[in-house]
Amino acid sequence: MPTLYLVGAGPGDPGLLTCAGADALRRADVCIYDYLANVRLLELLPPNCRRIYVGKSAGQHTLTQEQINALLVETAQALAKSKPEGGGVVVRLKGGDPFIFGRGGEEAMELRTAGIPFVIVPGITAGIAGAAYAGIPATQRNLATSVTLVTGHESEEKGGGTPTLDVATLSALLAGGGTVIFYMGVRNLPDIAAQFLAALRARNPQAAPPPPIPAAVIEWATHPHQRTVVGDLSNIAAKVEAAGIKPPAIILFGQVAQFRDQLNWFETRPLFGRTVLVTRTRQQASQLAAGLADLGARVLEAPTIELAEPDDWSQVDRALLTLARSAERTTAAQVAAAETIDYDWVVFTSSNGVRAAWERLQKLGLDARALAGARGGIAAVGPVTAAALAEIGITAELIPETFTGDALAPLLSKLLADKGKTAARMLMLRADIARPALREALERAGAHIHDVPVYRTVRPATLPDVVLGALDRGEIHWVTFTSGSTALNLFEMLDEKRRAVIAAAKRISIGPQTSATLQRLGWPATLEAQEHDIPGMLAALRRQAGP
Ligand code: SAH
Repeated sequence: MPTLYLVGAGPGDPGLLTCAGADALRRADVCIYDYLANVRLLELLPPNCRRIYVGKSAGQHTLTQEQINALLVETAQALAKSKPEGGGVVVRLKGGDPFIFGRGGEEAMELRTAGIPFVIVPGITAGIAGAAYAGIPATQRNLATSVTLVTGHESEEKGGGTPTLDVATLSALLAGGGTVIFYMGVRNLPDIAAQFLAALRARNPQAAPPPPIPAAVIEWATHPHQRTVVGDLSNIAAKVEAAGIKPPAIILFGQVAQFRDQLNWFETRPLFGRTVLVTRTRQQASQLAAGLADLGARVLEAPTIELAEPDDWSQVDRALLTLARSAERTTAAQVAAAETIDYDWVVFTSSNGVRAAWERLQKLGLDARALAGARGGIAAVGPVTAAALAEIGITAELIPETFTGDALAPLLSKLLADKGKTAARMLMLRADIARPALREALERAGAHIHDVPVYRTVRPATLPDVVLGALDRGEIHWVTFTSGSTALNLFEMLDEKRRAVIAAAKRISIGPQTSATLQRLGWPATLEAQEHDIPGMLAALRRQAGP
Protein backbone atom coordinates (compact mmCIF):
# COMPACT_ATOMS: atom_id res chain seq x y z
CA MET A 1 0.00 0.00 0.00
CA PRO A 2 1.15 3.55 -0.64
CA THR A 3 1.35 5.90 2.31
CA LEU A 4 -1.10 8.74 2.57
CA TYR A 5 0.36 11.94 3.98
CA LEU A 6 -2.11 14.37 5.48
CA VAL A 7 -0.03 17.50 5.11
CA GLY A 8 -0.73 20.89 6.63
CA ALA A 9 0.07 23.50 3.98
CA GLY A 10 0.24 26.34 6.51
CA PRO A 11 -1.79 29.51 6.31
CA GLY A 12 -0.73 30.74 2.86
CA ASP A 13 2.81 32.13 2.92
CA PRO A 14 4.61 29.28 1.12
CA GLY A 15 7.54 29.67 3.49
CA LEU A 16 5.36 28.44 6.33
CA LEU A 17 5.21 24.87 5.04
CA THR A 18 7.16 22.45 7.23
CA CYS A 19 10.23 20.60 5.93
CA ALA A 20 8.36 17.32 6.42
CA GLY A 21 5.52 18.70 4.31
CA ALA A 22 7.93 19.74 1.57
CA ASP A 23 9.55 16.29 1.62
CA ALA A 24 6.18 14.61 1.19
CA LEU A 25 5.25 16.92 -1.71
CA ARG A 26 8.56 16.22 -3.45
CA ARG A 27 7.87 12.48 -3.27
CA ALA A 28 4.18 12.58 -4.19
CA ASP A 29 2.67 10.40 -6.92
CA VAL A 30 -0.69 12.06 -6.40
CA CYS A 31 -1.59 15.29 -4.62
CA ILE A 32 -5.13 16.07 -3.54
CA TYR A 33 -5.36 19.70 -2.53
CA ASP A 34 -7.69 22.29 -1.11
CA TYR A 35 -8.76 25.82 -1.84
CA LEU A 36 -6.79 27.23 1.10
CA ALA A 37 -3.49 25.51 0.24
CA ASN A 38 -1.26 27.96 -1.64
CA VAL A 39 -0.93 26.66 -5.20
CA ARG A 40 2.68 27.78 -5.23
CA LEU A 41 3.40 24.78 -3.02
CA LEU A 42 2.42 22.57 -5.96
CA GLU A 43 5.66 23.69 -7.62
CA LEU A 44 7.37 21.23 -5.26
CA LEU A 45 5.56 18.26 -6.82
CA PRO A 46 7.46 16.07 -9.26
CA PRO A 47 6.51 16.90 -12.85
CA ASN A 48 4.57 13.68 -13.45
CA CYS A 49 2.61 13.87 -10.18
CA ARG A 50 -1.17 13.79 -10.58
CA ARG A 51 -2.93 16.82 -9.12
CA ILE A 52 -6.53 16.67 -7.94
CA TYR A 53 -8.31 19.82 -6.80
CA VAL A 54 -11.05 19.26 -4.25
CA GLY A 55 -11.26 22.91 -3.32
CA LYS A 56 -13.80 24.22 -0.98
CA SER A 57 -14.59 27.86 -0.79
CA ALA A 58 -17.39 29.20 1.35
CA GLY A 59 -20.73 27.83 0.24
CA GLN A 60 -19.29 26.19 -2.82
CA HIS A 61 -18.13 22.65 -2.28
CA THR A 62 -16.51 21.00 -5.22
CA LEU A 63 -16.80 17.64 -3.49
CA THR A 64 -18.64 16.70 -0.31
CA GLN A 65 -16.51 15.51 2.61
CA GLU A 66 -17.82 11.96 2.07
CA GLN A 67 -16.71 12.13 -1.55
CA ILE A 68 -13.29 13.41 -0.50
CA ASN A 69 -12.94 10.60 2.03
CA ALA A 70 -13.84 8.07 -0.65
CA LEU A 71 -11.48 9.72 -3.12
CA LEU A 72 -8.56 9.41 -0.69
CA VAL A 73 -9.15 5.69 -0.26
CA GLU A 74 -9.71 5.07 -3.98
CA THR A 75 -6.64 7.04 -4.95
CA ALA A 76 -4.43 5.08 -2.57
CA GLN A 77 -5.89 1.77 -3.76
CA ALA A 78 -5.50 2.68 -7.44
CA LEU A 79 -1.90 3.72 -6.85
CA ALA A 80 -1.25 0.40 -5.10
CA LYS A 81 -2.52 -1.44 -8.20
CA SER A 82 -0.41 0.62 -10.57
CA LYS A 83 2.70 0.03 -8.43
CA PRO A 84 3.13 -3.71 -8.03
CA GLU A 85 6.58 -3.03 -6.56
CA GLY A 86 4.85 -1.33 -3.61
CA GLY A 87 5.37 2.05 -2.05
CA GLY A 88 4.09 5.31 -3.43
CA VAL A 89 2.99 8.53 -1.82
CA VAL A 90 -0.38 10.23 -1.86
CA VAL A 91 -0.40 13.72 -0.36
CA ARG A 92 -3.58 15.22 0.96
CA LEU A 93 -2.64 18.90 1.21
CA LYS A 94 -4.85 20.96 3.49
CA GLY A 95 -4.75 24.63 4.48
CA GLY A 96 -3.26 25.43 7.88
CA ASP A 97 -3.11 22.38 10.12
CA PRO A 98 -5.01 19.27 9.03
CA PHE A 99 -6.34 18.63 12.54
CA ILE A 100 -7.54 22.16 13.28
CA PHE A 101 -10.99 22.67 11.76
CA GLY A 102 -9.68 20.82 8.74
CA ARG A 103 -11.58 17.57 9.01
CA GLY A 104 -8.24 15.82 9.02
CA GLY A 105 -9.47 13.63 11.87
CA GLU A 106 -12.38 12.39 9.76
CA GLU A 107 -10.12 11.67 6.82
CA ALA A 108 -7.63 9.80 9.00
CA MET A 109 -10.43 7.67 10.50
CA GLU A 110 -11.53 6.74 7.00
CA LEU A 111 -7.98 5.73 6.08
CA ARG A 112 -7.67 3.66 9.22
CA THR A 113 -10.90 1.82 8.41
CA ALA A 114 -9.68 1.13 4.87
CA GLY A 115 -6.32 -0.11 6.18
CA ILE A 116 -4.31 2.57 4.40
CA PRO A 117 -1.15 3.63 6.23
CA PHE A 118 -1.04 7.35 6.91
CA VAL A 119 1.25 10.04 8.29
CA ILE A 120 0.05 13.32 9.77
CA VAL A 121 2.25 16.31 9.00
CA PRO A 122 1.03 19.19 11.17
CA GLY A 123 0.91 22.65 9.69
CA ILE A 124 0.90 26.15 11.08
CA THR A 125 -2.69 26.98 11.73
CA ALA A 126 -4.16 30.22 10.37
CA GLY A 127 -5.32 31.48 13.75
CA ILE A 128 -1.87 31.52 15.30
CA ALA A 129 0.01 32.53 12.14
CA GLY A 130 -2.56 35.17 11.26
CA ALA A 131 -2.24 36.74 14.69
CA ALA A 132 1.56 36.70 14.40
CA TYR A 133 1.45 38.31 10.94
CA ALA A 134 -0.86 40.98 12.29
CA GLY A 135 1.67 41.71 15.03
CA ILE A 136 -0.33 40.01 17.78
CA PRO A 137 1.22 37.42 20.11
CA ALA A 138 -1.51 34.88 20.88
CA THR A 139 -0.34 34.64 24.48
CA GLN A 140 1.63 37.07 26.58
CA ARG A 141 3.11 36.42 30.00
CA ASN A 142 1.07 37.92 32.87
CA LEU A 143 -1.61 39.13 30.44
CA ALA A 144 -3.01 36.36 28.27
CA THR A 145 -2.44 32.96 29.80
CA SER A 146 -4.73 31.02 27.48
CA VAL A 147 -5.62 30.93 23.83
CA THR A 148 -8.79 29.23 22.65
CA LEU A 149 -9.53 28.26 19.05
CA VAL A 150 -13.22 28.24 18.22
CA THR A 151 -15.27 27.69 15.08
CA GLY A 152 -17.65 30.50 14.26
CA HIS A 153 -19.65 28.40 11.89
CA GLU A 154 -21.87 25.46 12.66
CA SER A 155 -21.19 22.36 10.57
CA GLU A 156 -23.43 21.82 7.56
CA GLU A 157 -24.93 18.73 9.18
CA LYS A 158 -26.20 20.94 11.97
CA GLY A 159 -27.57 23.42 9.47
CA GLY A 160 -24.79 26.06 9.35
CA GLY A 161 -25.33 29.31 11.24
CA THR A 162 -23.78 30.40 14.51
CA PRO A 163 -22.69 27.42 16.56
CA THR A 164 -23.95 26.98 20.07
CA LEU A 165 -21.09 28.65 21.87
CA ASP A 166 -20.34 28.27 25.52
CA VAL A 167 -20.31 32.05 25.69
CA ALA A 168 -20.25 32.12 29.48
CA THR A 169 -16.98 30.15 29.65
CA LEU A 170 -15.42 31.98 26.72
CA SER A 171 -16.26 35.38 28.13
CA ALA A 172 -14.82 34.37 31.50
CA LEU A 173 -11.57 33.59 29.65
CA LEU A 174 -11.74 36.91 27.83
CA ALA A 175 -12.49 38.84 31.02
CA GLY A 176 -9.38 37.25 32.54
CA GLY A 177 -7.25 38.57 29.69
CA GLY A 178 -7.26 35.37 27.64
CA THR A 179 -7.29 35.20 23.83
CA VAL A 180 -10.14 33.71 21.81
CA ILE A 181 -9.65 33.09 18.10
CA PHE A 182 -12.52 32.31 15.75
CA TYR A 183 -12.20 30.49 12.43
CA MET A 184 -14.95 30.66 9.80
CA GLY A 185 -16.61 33.44 11.72
CA VAL A 186 -16.85 36.44 9.40
CA ARG A 187 -20.46 35.94 8.41
CA ASN A 188 -21.60 35.38 11.98
CA LEU A 189 -19.40 38.09 13.52
CA PRO A 190 -22.26 40.48 14.42
CA ASP A 191 -24.04 37.66 16.21
CA ILE A 192 -20.90 36.37 17.93
CA ALA A 193 -19.84 39.84 19.12
CA ALA A 194 -23.33 40.58 20.42
CA GLN A 195 -23.40 37.32 22.40
CA PHE A 196 -20.05 38.16 24.00
CA LEU A 197 -21.04 41.70 24.88
CA ALA A 198 -24.22 40.47 26.53
CA ALA A 199 -22.36 37.73 28.41
CA LEU A 200 -19.67 40.14 29.64
CA ARG A 201 -22.29 42.57 30.90
CA ALA A 202 -24.21 39.76 32.56
CA ARG A 203 -21.10 38.67 34.48
CA ASN A 204 -21.47 41.58 36.87
CA PRO A 205 -24.70 43.50 36.25
CA GLN A 206 -24.27 45.96 39.17
CA ALA A 207 -20.78 47.20 38.33
CA ALA A 208 -19.75 49.81 35.75
CA PRO A 209 -19.63 48.53 32.14
CA PRO A 210 -16.76 46.06 31.64
CA PRO A 211 -13.55 47.41 30.06
CA PRO A 212 -13.52 47.03 26.27
CA ILE A 213 -12.09 43.83 24.81
CA PRO A 214 -9.73 44.61 21.88
CA ALA A 215 -10.45 42.73 18.67
CA ALA A 216 -8.72 42.15 15.33
CA VAL A 217 -9.91 40.53 12.13
CA ILE A 218 -7.27 39.30 9.68
CA GLU A 219 -8.26 38.53 6.11
CA TRP A 220 -6.02 36.39 3.86
CA ALA A 221 -3.50 36.21 6.67
CA THR A 222 0.17 35.76 5.67
CA HIS A 223 -0.66 36.43 2.00
CA PRO A 224 0.77 39.52 0.26
CA HIS A 225 -2.75 40.99 0.30
CA GLN A 226 -3.37 40.42 4.01
CA ARG A 227 -5.74 42.99 5.54
CA THR A 228 -6.34 43.64 9.21
CA VAL A 229 -9.15 45.53 10.86
CA VAL A 230 -8.88 46.40 14.55
CA GLY A 231 -11.41 47.60 17.06
CA ASP A 232 -13.12 46.20 20.12
CA LEU A 233 -16.00 43.87 20.78
CA SER A 234 -18.57 46.64 20.46
CA ASN A 235 -17.49 48.05 17.09
CA ILE A 236 -15.55 45.32 15.28
CA ALA A 237 -18.56 43.91 13.41
CA ALA A 238 -19.43 47.31 11.93
CA LYS A 239 -15.79 47.99 11.01
CA VAL A 240 -15.43 44.62 9.30
CA GLU A 241 -18.62 45.21 7.37
CA ALA A 242 -17.45 48.70 6.33
CA ALA A 243 -14.07 47.35 5.19
CA GLY A 244 -15.76 44.63 3.16
CA ILE A 245 -13.78 41.82 4.81
CA LYS A 246 -14.61 38.42 3.31
CA PRO A 247 -13.54 34.89 4.21
CA PRO A 248 -11.00 33.54 4.74
CA ALA A 249 -10.43 35.61 7.81
CA ILE A 250 -9.73 34.92 11.45
CA ILE A 251 -11.22 36.89 14.30
CA LEU A 252 -9.23 37.50 17.45
CA PHE A 253 -10.57 38.82 20.74
CA GLY A 254 -8.36 39.59 23.69
CA GLN A 255 -6.05 42.07 25.36
CA VAL A 256 -3.10 40.88 23.23
CA ALA A 257 -4.66 42.65 20.21
CA GLN A 258 -3.26 45.89 21.69
CA PHE A 259 0.27 44.81 20.83
CA ARG A 260 -0.43 45.29 17.15
CA ASP A 261 0.24 49.01 17.53
CA GLN A 262 3.85 48.22 18.31
CA LEU A 263 4.43 44.84 16.70
CA ASN A 264 2.77 45.23 13.32
CA TRP A 265 5.82 44.14 11.30
CA PHE A 266 4.29 42.49 8.24
CA GLU A 267 1.98 45.15 6.85
CA THR A 268 4.51 47.91 7.56
CA ARG A 269 7.29 46.52 5.38
CA PRO A 270 8.40 48.99 2.69
CA LEU A 271 6.80 47.22 -0.26
CA PHE A 272 3.82 45.65 1.50
CA GLY A 273 0.76 45.66 -0.74
CA ARG A 274 2.86 46.49 -3.80
CA THR A 275 3.08 44.20 -6.80
CA VAL A 276 6.49 44.19 -8.45
CA LEU A 277 7.08 42.75 -11.88
CA VAL A 278 10.59 41.35 -12.18
CA THR A 279 11.94 40.98 -15.68
CA ARG A 280 14.61 38.35 -15.84
CA THR A 281 15.93 35.35 -17.67
CA ARG A 282 13.98 32.18 -17.15
CA GLN A 283 16.98 30.21 -15.95
CA GLN A 284 18.23 32.76 -13.42
CA ALA A 285 17.70 32.00 -9.78
CA SER A 286 16.10 35.18 -8.62
CA GLN A 287 17.99 36.89 -5.86
CA LEU A 288 16.05 39.99 -6.76
CA ALA A 289 12.67 38.30 -6.35
CA ALA A 290 13.67 36.94 -2.94
CA GLY A 291 14.92 40.36 -1.81
CA LEU A 292 11.71 42.03 -2.97
CA ALA A 293 9.61 39.47 -1.14
CA ASP A 294 11.62 40.27 2.00
CA LEU A 295 10.61 43.90 1.56
CA GLY A 296 7.01 42.76 1.56
CA ALA A 297 6.22 42.90 -2.15
CA ARG A 298 4.06 40.53 -4.11
CA VAL A 299 6.52 39.47 -6.77
CA LEU A 300 5.56 38.43 -10.27
CA GLU A 301 8.28 37.13 -12.50
CA ALA A 302 8.31 37.91 -16.19
CA PRO A 303 10.94 35.87 -17.99
CA THR A 304 11.90 38.07 -20.94
CA ILE A 305 15.03 36.28 -21.98
CA GLU A 306 15.47 32.62 -22.67
CA LEU A 307 18.80 30.98 -23.20
CA ALA A 308 19.35 28.93 -26.31
CA GLU A 309 22.23 27.02 -27.84
CA PRO A 310 24.46 28.78 -30.35
CA ASP A 311 23.45 28.20 -33.97
CA ASP A 312 26.80 26.62 -34.56
CA TRP A 313 28.98 24.90 -32.00
CA SER A 314 32.13 24.62 -34.11
CA GLN A 315 33.88 27.70 -32.68
CA VAL A 316 33.11 26.67 -29.14
CA ASP A 317 34.16 23.09 -29.74
CA ARG A 318 37.45 24.14 -31.27
CA ALA A 319 38.21 26.37 -28.30
CA LEU A 320 37.28 23.74 -25.74
CA LEU A 321 39.25 21.02 -27.50
CA THR A 322 42.27 23.34 -27.68
CA LEU A 323 41.99 23.89 -23.95
CA ALA A 324 41.71 20.16 -23.33
CA ARG A 325 44.78 19.41 -25.43
CA SER A 326 46.73 22.12 -23.61
CA ALA A 327 45.68 20.61 -20.32
CA GLU A 328 47.23 17.32 -21.35
CA ARG A 329 50.63 18.87 -21.97
CA THR A 330 52.42 18.69 -18.70
CA THR A 331 55.98 19.67 -19.50
CA ALA A 332 57.25 23.00 -20.73
CA ALA A 333 58.73 21.21 -23.74
CA GLN A 334 55.34 19.84 -24.66
CA VAL A 335 53.83 23.27 -24.35
CA ALA A 336 56.56 24.80 -26.51
CA ALA A 337 56.21 22.11 -29.16
CA ALA A 338 52.46 22.43 -29.40
CA GLU A 339 50.96 23.54 -32.68
CA THR A 340 47.73 24.86 -31.23
CA ILE A 341 47.80 28.12 -29.34
CA ASP A 342 47.45 27.74 -25.62
CA TYR A 343 45.22 30.13 -23.73
CA ASP A 344 46.62 31.96 -20.77
CA TRP A 345 43.24 32.83 -19.37
CA VAL A 346 39.66 31.75 -19.70
CA VAL A 347 37.23 34.54 -18.87
CA PHE A 348 33.64 33.81 -17.92
CA THR A 349 31.30 36.76 -18.05
CA SER A 350 28.21 35.09 -16.61
CA SER A 351 27.06 32.06 -14.67
CA ASN A 352 25.03 31.09 -17.71
CA GLY A 353 28.25 31.06 -19.71
CA VAL A 354 29.82 28.73 -17.15
CA ARG A 355 26.88 26.35 -17.30
CA ALA A 356 26.71 26.39 -21.10
CA ALA A 357 30.44 25.67 -21.38
CA TRP A 358 30.16 22.94 -18.79
CA GLU A 359 27.34 21.22 -20.64
CA ARG A 360 29.24 21.43 -23.90
CA LEU A 361 32.39 20.02 -22.31
CA GLN A 362 30.38 17.02 -21.20
CA LYS A 363 28.87 16.57 -24.65
CA LEU A 364 32.41 16.49 -26.01
CA GLY A 365 33.31 13.76 -23.54
CA LEU A 366 35.42 16.18 -21.52
CA ASP A 367 35.16 17.53 -17.99
CA ALA A 368 36.44 20.31 -15.76
CA ARG A 369 40.03 19.09 -16.19
CA ALA A 370 40.00 20.66 -19.67
CA LEU A 371 40.01 24.09 -18.02
CA ALA A 372 43.47 23.33 -16.67
CA GLY A 373 44.53 24.21 -20.22
CA ALA A 374 44.24 27.85 -19.24
CA ARG A 375 47.85 28.36 -18.25
CA GLY A 376 47.29 31.57 -16.31
CA GLY A 377 43.99 30.77 -14.75
CA ILE A 378 40.27 31.34 -14.83
CA ALA A 379 38.65 34.75 -14.45
CA ALA A 380 35.06 35.33 -13.44
CA VAL A 381 33.37 38.71 -13.81
CA GLY A 382 31.81 38.55 -10.40
CA PRO A 383 30.91 36.45 -7.40
CA VAL A 384 27.87 34.84 -9.02
CA THR A 385 29.91 33.62 -11.97
CA ALA A 386 32.59 32.43 -9.56
CA ALA A 387 29.94 30.50 -7.64
CA ALA A 388 28.84 28.77 -10.84
CA LEU A 389 32.47 27.80 -11.42
CA ALA A 390 32.74 26.50 -7.87
CA GLU A 391 29.80 24.22 -8.61
CA ILE A 392 31.87 22.45 -11.24
CA GLY A 393 34.85 22.26 -8.93
CA ILE A 394 36.79 25.23 -10.30
CA THR A 395 38.13 28.04 -8.14
CA ALA A 396 38.49 31.20 -10.21
CA GLU A 397 41.83 32.99 -9.85
CA LEU A 398 40.39 36.39 -10.65
CA ILE A 399 37.15 37.68 -9.22
CA PRO A 400 36.42 41.38 -8.84
CA GLU A 401 34.57 41.89 -5.59
CA THR A 402 31.52 43.57 -7.00
CA PHE A 403 29.82 43.35 -10.32
CA THR A 404 29.61 46.85 -11.71
CA GLY A 405 29.00 46.43 -15.43
CA ASP A 406 31.56 48.34 -17.45
CA ALA A 407 33.55 49.40 -14.39
CA LEU A 408 34.65 45.81 -14.37
CA ALA A 409 36.79 46.01 -17.48
CA PRO A 410 39.48 48.34 -16.12
CA LEU A 411 39.48 46.33 -12.93
CA LEU A 412 40.13 43.12 -14.77
CA SER A 413 42.85 44.71 -16.93
CA LYS A 414 44.46 46.11 -13.82
CA LEU A 415 44.33 42.76 -12.12
CA LEU A 416 45.92 41.21 -15.18
CA ALA A 417 48.55 43.94 -15.33
CA ASP A 418 49.37 43.43 -11.67
CA LYS A 419 49.93 39.80 -12.44
CA GLY A 420 52.14 40.73 -15.39
CA LYS A 421 49.74 39.13 -17.78
CA THR A 422 48.90 42.04 -20.05
CA ALA A 423 49.94 40.18 -23.17
CA ALA A 424 47.75 37.26 -22.23
CA ARG A 425 45.75 35.25 -24.70
CA MET A 426 42.28 35.09 -23.38
CA LEU A 427 39.37 32.90 -24.26
CA MET A 428 36.15 34.68 -23.44
CA LEU A 429 33.14 32.36 -23.17
CA ARG A 430 30.09 34.58 -23.12
CA ALA A 431 26.62 35.36 -24.39
CA ASP A 432 26.00 36.41 -27.97
CA ILE A 433 24.79 39.85 -26.89
CA ALA A 434 27.58 40.65 -24.44
CA ARG A 435 28.58 44.27 -24.45
CA PRO A 436 31.89 44.86 -26.23
CA ALA A 437 33.24 47.11 -23.45
CA LEU A 438 35.01 44.38 -21.53
CA ARG A 439 36.66 42.97 -24.60
CA GLU A 440 37.77 46.39 -25.86
CA ALA A 441 39.20 47.40 -22.50
CA LEU A 442 41.16 44.18 -22.22
CA GLU A 443 42.49 44.61 -25.74
CA ARG A 444 43.61 48.12 -24.89
CA ALA A 445 45.38 46.60 -21.91
CA GLY A 446 47.27 44.42 -24.40
CA ALA A 447 45.38 41.15 -24.22
CA HIS A 448 44.54 39.02 -27.27
CA ILE A 449 40.93 38.05 -27.00
CA HIS A 450 39.29 35.05 -28.56
CA ASP A 451 35.67 35.91 -28.10
CA VAL A 452 33.33 32.92 -28.35
CA PRO A 453 29.58 32.96 -27.70
CA VAL A 454 28.56 29.80 -25.80
CA TYR A 455 24.87 30.60 -25.66
CA ARG A 456 22.31 32.79 -27.31
CA THR A 457 19.62 34.84 -25.69
CA VAL A 458 16.21 34.76 -27.32
CA ARG A 459 12.89 36.34 -26.54
CA PRO A 460 10.25 33.92 -25.20
CA ALA A 461 7.00 33.76 -27.14
CA THR A 462 4.79 35.01 -24.32
CA LEU A 463 4.55 35.82 -20.62
CA PRO A 464 3.00 33.64 -17.90
CA ASP A 465 -0.76 33.97 -17.45
CA VAL A 466 -0.41 35.42 -13.93
CA VAL A 467 1.67 38.26 -15.34
CA LEU A 468 -0.70 38.98 -18.23
CA GLY A 469 -3.67 38.89 -15.83
CA ALA A 470 -2.01 41.31 -13.42
CA LEU A 471 -1.14 43.65 -16.30
CA ASP A 472 -4.69 43.58 -17.61
CA ARG A 473 -6.07 44.34 -14.16
CA GLY A 474 -3.56 47.19 -13.76
CA GLU A 475 -2.13 45.64 -10.60
CA ILE A 476 1.54 46.37 -11.27
CA HIS A 477 3.12 49.07 -9.07
CA TRP A 478 6.81 48.61 -9.91
CA VAL A 479 8.76 46.99 -12.72
CA THR A 480 12.44 46.09 -12.29
CA PHE A 481 14.90 46.16 -15.18
CA THR A 482 18.33 44.60 -14.82
CA SER A 483 19.42 45.10 -18.43
CA GLY A 484 18.54 46.94 -21.59
CA SER A 485 17.73 43.69 -23.34
CA THR A 486 15.13 42.68 -20.75
CA ALA A 487 13.51 46.10 -21.22
CA LEU A 488 13.56 45.78 -24.99
CA ASN A 489 12.21 42.26 -24.93
CA LEU A 490 9.42 43.13 -22.53
CA PHE A 491 8.46 45.99 -24.83
CA GLU A 492 8.39 43.66 -27.83
CA MET A 493 6.31 41.09 -25.96
CA LEU A 494 3.50 43.50 -25.04
CA ASP A 495 0.72 45.08 -27.03
CA GLU A 496 -0.05 48.82 -26.84
CA LYS A 497 -2.44 48.47 -23.92
CA ARG A 498 -0.07 46.49 -21.77
CA ARG A 499 2.84 48.80 -22.64
CA ALA A 500 0.72 51.62 -21.25
CA VAL A 501 0.39 49.71 -17.97
CA ILE A 502 4.19 49.56 -17.71
CA ALA A 503 4.31 53.26 -18.53
CA ALA A 504 1.83 54.00 -15.75
CA ALA A 505 3.79 51.93 -13.21
CA LYS A 506 7.07 52.94 -11.58
CA ARG A 507 10.25 51.57 -13.09
CA ILE A 508 13.57 50.89 -11.44
CA SER A 509 16.70 50.48 -13.48
CA ILE A 510 19.94 48.82 -12.44
CA GLY A 511 22.13 51.47 -14.04
CA PRO A 512 22.67 54.13 -16.72
CA GLN A 513 22.76 51.81 -19.73
CA THR A 514 19.48 50.18 -18.82
CA SER A 515 18.01 53.60 -18.07
CA ALA A 516 19.06 54.81 -21.53
CA THR A 517 17.21 51.92 -23.17
CA LEU A 518 14.16 52.59 -21.01
CA GLN A 519 14.25 56.24 -22.02
CA ARG A 520 14.25 55.27 -25.68
CA LEU A 521 11.27 52.98 -25.17
CA GLY A 522 9.24 55.78 -23.60
CA TRP A 523 9.49 54.15 -20.20
CA PRO A 524 11.91 56.49 -18.40
CA ALA A 525 13.25 55.05 -15.17
CA THR A 526 11.53 56.39 -12.08
CA LEU A 527 14.51 55.30 -10.03
CA GLU A 528 18.04 54.20 -10.82
CA ALA A 529 20.14 52.13 -8.45
CA GLN A 530 23.19 53.97 -7.10
CA GLU A 531 25.07 50.69 -6.84
CA HIS A 532 24.52 48.94 -10.13
CA ASP A 533 23.69 45.52 -8.81
CA ILE A 534 20.79 43.65 -7.24
CA PRO A 535 21.49 44.75 -3.63
CA GLY A 536 21.78 48.31 -5.00
CA MET A 537 18.34 48.03 -6.58
CA LEU A 538 16.86 46.67 -3.37
CA ALA A 539 18.43 49.46 -1.34
CA ALA A 540 17.05 52.09 -3.72
CA LEU A 541 13.56 50.59 -3.53
CA ARG A 542 13.70 50.36 0.24
CA ARG A 543 14.51 54.07 0.42
CA GLN A 544 11.98 55.21 -2.16
CA ALA A 545 9.09 52.82 -1.65
CA GLY A 546 5.76 54.44 -1.16
CA PRO A 547 2.34 54.47 -2.66
N1 SAH B 1 -7.12 23.87 8.89
C1 SAH B 1 -7.12 25.29 8.74
C2 SAH B 1 -8.48 25.90 9.00
C3 SAH B 1 -9.50 25.52 7.99
S1 SAH B 1 -11.07 26.19 8.35
C4 SAH B 1 -6.08 25.89 9.64
O1 SAH B 1 -5.54 25.20 10.50
O2 SAH B 1 -5.75 27.06 9.48
C5 SAH B 1 -11.12 27.58 7.27
C6 SAH B 1 -10.97 28.85 8.07
O3 SAH B 1 -9.63 29.01 8.45
C7 SAH B 1 -11.31 30.09 7.30
O4 SAH B 1 -12.69 30.33 7.29
C8 SAH B 1 -10.57 31.13 8.10
O5 SAH B 1 -11.26 31.47 9.26
C9 SAH B 1 -9.33 30.38 8.49
N2 SAH B 1 -8.24 30.62 7.57
C10 SAH B 1 -7.56 29.73 6.84
N3 SAH B 1 -6.57 30.31 6.15
C11 SAH B 1 -6.64 31.62 6.43
C12 SAH B 1 -5.90 32.77 6.06
N4 SAH B 1 -4.86 32.68 5.22
N5 SAH B 1 -6.24 33.95 6.57
C13 SAH B 1 -7.27 34.07 7.43
N6 SAH B 1 -8.00 33.04 7.82
C14 SAH B 1 -7.70 31.83 7.34
